[in-house]
Amino acid sequence: MDLAQDWQERLTGKDCPLCRQPLENAICRLSSGTVRLVPDGNFPGYCILVAHRHVIEVPDLAPSEQRQWMSDMVSLIRAVQSVCAPQKINIAMLGNEVPHLHCHIIPRYFEDGYWGKPIWLRPAEKSLQLSNEQRESLRRKLLERLALEPGFIALSTGG
Ligand SMILES: [Zn+2]
Repeated sequence: MDLAQDWQERLTGKDCPLCRQPLENAICRLSSGTVRLVPDGNFPGYCILVAHRHVIEVPDLAPSEQRQWMSDMVSLIRAVQSVCAPQKINIAMLGNEVPHLHCHIIPRYFEDGYWGKPIWLRPAEKSLQLSNEQRESLRRKLLERLALEPGFIALSTGG
């Protein structure tokens, strides 16, 4: 399959990993999307907000959905700041591999090993994993802070 044909299929949502349910590592739903907690040991608290439906860019959402998406992003950023006290938050909406609207919310720490650089420069083999205890503690604290958001539903298994 050539690049253009493969991309066209991804745009339509064929075999889209973010349309699949349940979403891996999902901890809760908000009004506009599902929150995943990435079990990343370099960047504890790394979350991804995944839009509930397969749209590609923010303007593909209706105006009221765009506002809700932004509001949910801000709520998630605040929750991560409050729980993890990072030095900085990185926000990334790329979609170059999976063109289903999603937003990476990445807490950055002086000691994260890549301070001053984008996290994508980390070689895959250097990725650290959260322990189950760390993951459960982060999940619980993030859910406490997100529980009052509109549309909040906790997801019990986490994926
Ligand atoms: Zn999708």
